[in-house]
Amino acid sequence: MGPLKTFSDCSKNDLIVITGAGGFIAGALARYFHDRGFTRIRAVDKKPLPDWYQVVPRVESLCLDVSEEANCRRVCEGAVEVYNLAADMGGMGFIERFRIQCLRSILINTHLIEAAYRAGARRYFFSSSACAYNTELQKDPNCRALRETDAYPAMAERGYGWEKLMSEMFCQEYWAERGMKTFIARFHNVYGPHGTWDGGREKAPAAICRKVIEAKDRGAGDIDIWGTGKQTRSFMYIDDCTEGIDRIMHCDELIATPINLGSSELIAINDLVTLAEEIGGVKLRRAYDLNAPQGVVGRNSDNTMIKKILGWEPTTPFRKGLVQTYAWIAQQYEDRKAGHRTVHDTM
Ligand code: NAD
Repeated sequence: MGPLKTFSDCSKNDLIVITGAGGFIAGALARYFHDRGFTRIRAVDKKPLPDWYQVVPRVESLCLDVSEEANCRRVCEGAVEVYNLAADMGGMGFIERFRIQCLRSILINTHLIEAAYRAGARRYFFSSSACAYNTELQKDPNCRALRETDAYPAMAERGYGWEKLMSEMFCQEYWAERGMKTFIARFHNVYGPHGTWDGGREKAPAAICRKVIEAKDRGAGDIDIWGTGKQTRSFMYIDDCTEGIDRIMHCDELIATPINLGSSELIAINDLVTLAEEIGGVKLRRAYDLNAPQGVVGRNSDNTMIKKILGWEPTTPFRKGLVQTYAWIAQQYEDRKAGHRTVHDTM
């Protein structure tokens, strides 16, 4: 097997800064660039090191809060590329309840982009979200997939979505006014091994896998589901996400241009439960909690633009990705039961 492919035009010794690297996606991104031979990666997160989901060997790992200006300056020193994936976020249960916390992530991007600019970084990446889209367009489970132009006129998800929209605008203006190359991907639900699976911030695929595993373990016959189960979403496997970030960041046609990074395979939550049951080899009675947070009714990613510009889109079939995710969560669950510490025990 030859060396793993990257789309980067950097030298392997250029300094790459990745914030939020104690979390799910940025942790995987640090590993992605490490595996492709980059020798100077600076991973940053405010969590103490033992709580990071992945600590990648030979990567400089800093525990710093990047909502503070001075820390951003320190973090960006010498950076050639900066990837901002730090945010206070979680699944629907978190973002509907903690809107102020989500909004305060505006401080992270505000200070980090300025520090990256002052440090002379060549490229800057911002992880936006499908939550930036107009919620009026997401009221039907069979809604049409969201195109990049659907963010305006704006009616983003309260709190979290507005923060993303505003931070996107910062990125666009740093290009327009100051000529720094910025890149903006709107992620649609990312899932996979090393993601949050417990504690209140987890998203639907991990939450459903965990509930099936728990039900099996306890010999319980039922499962509770948030909402009607008819809500639809698309889910992107983590490996597609890291490759997509690399491709987007290194495509000059996409400078300062928000683009969807998501799967276009639409899944109803009920079908997600059925899949997880099949993987776990059980059949459970479903109890629907209509008072639980459930977010928009339907959301999918229109991939016309990414296919046209990059000639690529996320393609991991949901079933395949869920098998991997289920197996990883089942192992975490077993480890915890056996008394071994898992990273989620501290959350
Ligand atoms: P995550 O919660 O696993 O990781 C985010 C990390 O950022 C955490 O480890 C957290 O400690 C860190 N962080 C928060 N505030 C910080 C600060 N002030 N200083 C330093 N570190 C800080 O989340 P994730 O799923 O890996 O998401 C990464 C990015 O992708 C976020 O910007 C998120 O909004 C975006 N996103 C994720 C999804 C998804 O489905 N996971 C969907 C859309 C957008």
